[in-house]
Amino acid sequence: MNAPAATTQPAVFYGHGSPMNTLEANRHTEAWRRSGAMGPRPRAILAISAHWYVGETAVTAMARPRTIHDFYGFPPALHAFDYPASGDPALAERVRALLAPLPVRADADWGLDHGTWSVLAHVYPDADVPIVQLSLDARREPAFHHELGRRLAVLRDEGVRIVGSGNAVHHLGRLARRPDAPPHDWALAFEAHVRDCVLRDEVAPLIDYEGFGEAARLSVPTPEHYLPMLVVLGARRPDDRATILTEGIELGSIGMLSFALDRAEA
Ligand code: ZN
Repeated sequence: MNAPAATTQPAVFYGHGSPMNTLEANRHTEAWRRSGAMGPRPRAILAISAHWYVGETAVTAMARPRTIHDFYGFPPALHAFDYPASGDPALAERVRALLAPLPVRADADWGLDHGTWSVLAHVYPDADVPIVQLSLDARREPAFHHELGRRLAVLRDEGVRIVGSGNAVHHLGRLARRPDAPPHDWALAFEAHVRDCVLRDEVAPLIDYEGFGEAARLSVPTPEHYLPMLVVLGARRPDDRATILTEGIELGSIGMLSFALDRAEA
């Protein structure tokens, strides 16, 4: 009766936190795992990771992306972790066509960074959904990244799940040393602000996040972990319902807010 409903994919933002989440089972990774069963099974994923923040817009176009270990000082098991999902060169071309005339470089060098695989290792543990990564363009403003999502939203009707991975609150310089340390007040305030805006479908204050003042300045000292969320919000439809998957501040200054945008039940 309603053919598009059968195939339309959610768009999902994950607060990824520590790379160690790859190997752990906790309330966040359990929520990520459950999100894999939301909606129809995707034919591919378009992933926007905080950890591909470069001076251009690029899309991974290789058939076999490598697992990139873009961190230091973690246990050998994490450095050895492999996430052997295939790429999808045809999807990469489709992304370039949708964003034209914006130049989007077809990349053959990057791969899957830990922003992508630390989460997807739980969402799709069998690594059996092809993945294309889209870069964040460090030259461009927040509104540009929201617009990227808007122009790519149609992919959701083509069986492609748009997945952003970052953290709405991310200040490594203010990390607490103790795992049970209380959250900073500004981190709690900003995550609550983001959550409220997402649930109310108010995106303008999230694009102009600096307007929230000191709590925003401390929560988003650099934009790379924040921008993937704006791409996902750009792909939002008027009839989407927002679902909070998990939330909470870890280590004082890392916001784990994760949410899905999915068609409201008819
Ligand atoms: Zn990160």
